[in-house]
Amino acid sequence: MPREYPIEKTRDIGIIAHIDAGKTTVSERVLFYTGISHKIGEVHDGGAIMDWMEQERERGITITSAATTCFWTPSQFTGDKTKKYRINIIDTPGHIDFTAEVQRSLRVLDGAVVVFDGVAGVEPQSETVWRQADKFKVPRICFINKLDRTGASFEKSFQSILDKLTPNAITMQLPIGLEQEHKGVVDLLKMKAIMFDGDFGQIIREEEIPENMKKDAKKWRDKMIEKIVAEDDSAMEKYLGGEEVPMEKLKEVLRKAVIDYKLVPVFCGSALKNKGVQPMLDAVCDYLPSPIDMPAIKGINPKTGEETEERRADDSEKFSALAFKVATDPFVGALTYFRVYSGTLISGSYLLNPRTGDKERIGRILRMHSAEREEVKEVYTGDIAATVGLKNTRTGDTLCDETASVILEQIIFPEPVIGIRIEPQSKADQEKMGLALKRLSEEDPTFRIKSDIETGETIISGMGELHLEVLVDRMKREFKVEASVGRPQVAYKETIKEEAQAEGKFIKQSGGRGQYGHVMLKVKPLERGKGFVFNDEIKGGSIPKEYIPAVEKGIKEAMSKGVVAGYLMMDIEVTLYDGSFHEVDSSENAFKIAGSMAFQEAAKRAKAVILEPIMKLEVIIPSDFFGDVIGDLSSRRGKIGQTDDRNNLKIIDATIPLAQMFGYATTLRSLTEGRGNFTMEFDKYEEVPGNIAQEIIEGKRR
Ligand code: GDP
Repeated sequence: MPREYPIEKTRDIGIIAHIDAGKTTVSERVLFYTGISHKIGEVHDGGAIMDWMEQERERGITITSAATTCFWTPSQFTGDKTKKYRINIIDTPGHIDFTAEVQRSLRVLDGAVVVFDGVAGVEPQSETVWRQADKFKVPRICFINKLDRTGASFEKSFQSILDKLTPNAITMQLPIGLEQEHKGVVDLLKMKAIMFDGDFGQIIREEEIPENMKKDAKKWRDKMIEKIVAEDDSAMEKYLGGEEVPMEKLKEVLRKAVIDYKLVPVFCGSALKNKGVQPMLDAVCDYLPSPIDMPAIKGINPKTGEETEERRADDSEKFSALAFKVATDPFVGALTYFRVYSGTLISGSYLLNPRTGDKERIGRILRMHSAEREEVKEVYTGDIAATVGLKNTRTGDTLCDETASVILEQIIFPEPVIGIRIEPQSKADQEKMGLALKRLSEEDPTFRIKSDIETGETIISGMGELHLEVLVDRMKREFKVEASVGRPQVAYKETIKEEAQAEGKFIKQSGGRGQYGHVMLKVKPLERGKGFVFNDEIKGGSIPKEYIPAVEKGIKEAMSKGVVAGYLMMDIEVTLYDGSFHEVDSSENAFKIAGSMAFQEAAKRAKAVILEPIMKLEVIIPSDFFGDVIGDLSSRRGKIGQTDDRNNLKIIDATIPLAQMFGYATTLRSLTEGRGNFTMEFDKYEEVPGNIAQEIIEGKRR
């Protein structure tokens, strides 16, 4: 079967925004106009289509990246109804707690529409989102939304984009009327007014620009053209020579400039009042890149570990894809979303997962149309699709042709920094909970489960308070587990500061079959983030080979329990260098216990300490509150880094212990009359100061 849509008419895009700017509403209108949803549901009615998980709907925020496919025929300029585009919309979560997910979804996009609130303009969190998109080099267009709201201003919002985000923004439209009077937009390329009729703005009417806007439109059009022609010598020559540059040429130059991150066109309207969404979709087709406009993707050769592989976006290349999201469905199981970077995939074939070395059979290929699924036989380069029933593929894994192995992304997941205890209500809940947590952790690699053997409690840990709240919510709701939940706690760790040696003997030789395990080992601190390294330097068989894995196991068990206050130990190298055994009495179990004893003793001698997660914090506040906010941060053991001024705002960068950040949102609000904002992400683990270590140890004992 040939592809239905040529690759150059495919768009893999995201709609990104600060929470509340209207991302959900815009997405919904897109689905409506592209014919997928037949009724427009309001967000506050809980009818949003993209928010397909119940509790997301209640929170009104979008957390999970799903993907949805829709089709659009740009009508504004070409008038050619045969030119249908396939637009794959990858949903991007907006909350900072979910950085791993935001990053993974930004990774697979070729372009984005950034939505702004036309009253607030650029908000502090829009800056965070923007910078993330910069980091991943995502070409983008802007949509200034909510122009029907009281106090809306296109010019102010546009100016805030220029001032705070990029001087390369360029006005493509002007609104016709604002607030209650907002009726349509002026298309500055075509120099026409575009009006939206019908109950849902689905009927587009082009007319003359209103008389009272003509002068303004001309002024803005000149500015727009100047910026476009500056990107192309031949267009510039024409323009300077006083000739009219044809619209098609302007569009071509602009398209190239958007793809090269040189210009960012700005559109406008009101999603809620059904104004301006269709021209924005035209712009997605006109200016955002198709998969072949992007450079060939680079990858690591799994055999050499070097980044020497490259895959062109071409159906005839060897297949490669990135699994960017694993969603769990209590009924269907794991649903793995992937983006195809090269080649063609036919259902029923096998792919290699180079991380595990396993082959995975791709039984069914699904194309997701928001809540509905369509089964397809083949997918091609640039497609976004999903498959069910993969055995061991996680978010971030590459899937590739087994004869051309490649790793598209080296996966480093941050350590979870916060944990909570959960206690199932009954025996039946205990079982359901086990399954639910297992499923949820497959879906989200930044989420971990640990059971406390002594108390029988389960501790789950993740990247932030909201992250865990959402997981617990899903466990209760989707998997129907009844459980009580403790307060969030910082995930402390332990490590050692010096080198040391110790001996462990587990010997019992009185009556019956005895026990004999004897090990001697050295411990040494490793650089932060290096985890655990085990060296076997046993010579002359002083410990037989078959017992060595048991020694390692014993060490790992001891590490998981810590030696200071019961926290997981990390960044330690252990070298097993001597020991002895007994022909009859030695066993795996005896060596495991001996290994554990030796490690505990060595770790204590090596100055074991407690580590705490330190967060990178960015606080944005009106300048007036600077003193108070800095003072408060210092009292929370914060270390102030750089501070920047922007207009009337101060931007403070700091590092601060997570333990000091519970409830910070409330404090900041009251310190700044509700006008401050902050974002936070994990930075590193650091030793806790002595007095606080003492408090932690005593707290544990109690
Ligand atoms: P998200 O958090 O970015 O997904 O934003 P939503 O789409 O959920 O919108 C947040 C709120 O703004 C909701 O109450 C919407 O009804 C409202 N909203 C969205 N777009 C518009 C708009 O164009 N005009 C007005 N007046 N309200 C809007």
